[in-house]
Amino acid sequence: MLSGFSLCPGLFYDTPAQDGILSRIRIPGGILDSKQCRAIADIAENYGGGYVDVTNRANLQIRELRSGINPQVLQHLQNIGIGSRNFAIDHVRNIMTSPTAGIDPQELMDTRPLVQGWDNYIAAHPELSGLSAKFSVCFDGGGQVSVCDRLNDIIFAAVLIKGRVYFRLHLSVGVKGKPPIDMGIVLSPEQCLPVCGSLAQVYLKYTDPQTRRKLRLRELLNHLGCETYLQEVQQHLPFKLTPHPQLKETSYLKLSPLPLEKTANSNYFHIGIHPQRQSDLFYIGVVLPLGRLEGQQIRILADLAQKFGSGTLRLTPWQNLLITDIPQPCLSDIKNEITALKLDFSPSNINSALVACSGNKGCAASATDTKADALALAKYLQTHVSLNHPVNIHFSGCEKSCAQHSNSDITLLGVTQESENGALAAYHIYVGDSVRGVAIGDSNHKFGRQLYQYVTFDKLPRLLGQMLQLYKIQCQNPDESFREFVNRYEIVQLQSFFSSVI
Ligand code: SF4
Repeated sequence: MLSGFSLCPGLFYDTPAQDGILSRIRIPGGILDSKQCRAIADIAENYGGGYVDVTNRANLQIRELRSGINPQVLQHLQNIGIGSRNFAIDHVRNIMTSPTAGIDPQELMDTRPLVQGWDNYIAAHPELSGLSAKFSVCFDGGGQVSVCDRLNDIIFAAVLIKGRVYFRLHLSVGVKGKPPIDMGIVLSPEQCLPVCGSLAQVYLKYTDPQTRRKLRLRELLNHLGCETYLQEVQQHLPFKLTPHPQLKETSYLKLSPLPLEKTANSNYFHIGIHPQRQSDLFYIGVVLPLGRLEGQQIRILADLAQKFGSGTLRLTPWQNLLITDIPQPCLSDIKNEITALKLDFSPSNINSALVACSGNKGCAASATDTKADALALAKYLQTHVSLNHPVNIHFSGCEKSCAQHSNSDITLLGVTQESENGALAAYHIYVGDSVRGVAIGDSNHKFGRQLYQYVTFDKLPRLLGQMLQLYKIQCQNPDESFREFVNRYEIVQLQSFFSSVI
């Protein structure tokens, strides 16, 4: 029996944070109806700081709660479909899918029934309360707004093979932070949930359900080996796991992995106005600065969704939201209403791809006030640079990188610098892709290549302003991303461009 430690926030138990109690609401697929939105706004205002934060799993977090939410209110939330039906599995990670599932013109399959099916499955299997809180499952329908690059333990990714839709199974294995690996198995849509259930059952077999210390699936796969693990999964199934036909092998156990596909800037494709697969209907992706919404903004957005669309808000793993099913004649009105809420829907808005962890206001581990610094930086950049593409800027208060696990264009890592005048809050700056295989502490890092060390916040706005300006002027073509742009240069070359600021 193996074990590892895990404690994650939920709705049915109190999690203390620096700024009060933290409550996290699981929202499978990130889809909320108007009634649920209003109930959440009430809780944020009656119990917490009056706002909610959308997380990188399309959950909602309510912070600064002064007391636990009372049992009648929790019961009401369950009655209207918020939170887990079985509170024992409330800690298990939110089920992820593309926020455009069912409306994406390019998707191969609407994955919402799979999300619902897996949520029903875990609610009906109380033994799954023994899963690690980080046991994470994602269904990707193969559309334009892909979630394949989000870190998950298990990803089912839709592919087309000889005119039929299958799902490729990817599992998290190997080094922490590495993208899940293709197991070389293709599944029909009907096979995904039984396989997911079997993956969970095998996990439970090797972990102690009583202990609070739970292993990540990755650690268990590393310990047992994928081959042994999948052989045990196979024993629970009434059908045979099928190897990917392109790989021309007889056993999936001998197959080499296929990479997950992703295009540059595709993560932020959802911002702005886009046609749906349903003719004459559109969705609008709204930018939420640092994923935050005030209670009153949630209510008004819910009203807009009801008035102009299908009455639902869809939260995205990039901490923005969508209003869907808007007829073309209503677009102008809804755009005006969103602007009146002081929100924006422009893909080039610097806030569309700005991410920050809780920072030192909410987390004792943080070296810096990441959220305040991120907002101040965005305010400066909005008046000094206009972008053609979203540039993903990520503030992290420590190495753990809770707010964003995938690489960003620019990462600002909060650090403390000892000086004669005491401890000083500063940032290490990383850009583009790291060089594979180089250890932490070198000039290359899991966040990217290190550009500068110990930069105090007062220098950041001008420095990043110059970086973005340079990118805009010198990019090779309109589609070149910031990441591709900086990857073309050596670090010393980049440093020479900004020597007047640093
Ligand atoms: S990244 Fe570090 S500082 Fe930020 S919330 Fe996570 S643990 Fe706290």
